[in-house]
Amino acid sequence: METMVGKTKLSLVQGDITQQDTEAIVNAANTGLLGGSGVDGAIHRAGGSEILEECKAIRAKQGGCPTGQAVITTGGRLKARYVIHTVGPVWSGGGKREEELLKGAYDSSLTLAKERDIRSIAFPSISTGAYRFPIEPAARIALSTVRDFLRGHSFSEVRFVLFSEKDLQVYEDCWKELSSTQAD
Ligand code: ADP
Repeated sequence: METMVGKTKLSLVQGDITQQDTEAIVNAANTGLLGGSGVDGAIHRAGGSEILEECKAIRAKQGGCPTGQAVITTGGRLKARYVIHTVGPVWSGGGKREEELLKGAYDSSLTLAKERDIRSIAFPSISTGAYRFPIEPAARIALSTVRDFLRGHSFSEVRFVLFSEKDLQVYEDCWKELSSTQAD
């Protein structure tokens, strides 16, 4: 699915985040920034050791990345020039500010991209794998945070890359629902 939000192309696709040709891709990292499973492992494997070296330097300087925030490194061997590493919340029932922290992860990534004049960015579905955030509310937060950010800023493209057909369907249904209701 592809649609315009102001001057920005918003696309929802099924695929592998490591293969994207956007200027930046976003990593669903963890606070330690040393790699892990899922998207994180795939990005470090595909992008090579240069990404980990920069993550280690960031760790040495600021001691990792708090949940809801983001840091940026090279894309190493990836097509993408940069990787924005953000940390989504671990779902533990909804009473630990998980929604606010997930919104923070998207907002921080978009803000960092803007600060670096990045023109196109691809996101995975942050927190909905190992971190167990339920996909429907996570999709709503992801898409509404991007939509709201695009009221004040534009990119050439913001792309969501969903790993499974089912997740893509959830994001598409959610976008239709958001577009049919008044922006809040
Ligand atoms: P988190 O720890 O934030 O939950 P995960 O990496 O475990 O992050 O999962 C986040 C989402 O990314 C899940 O929906 C998972 O299926 C998906 N995913 C895993 N590998 C890839 C990949 N290479 N490209 C895009 N999405 C992926």
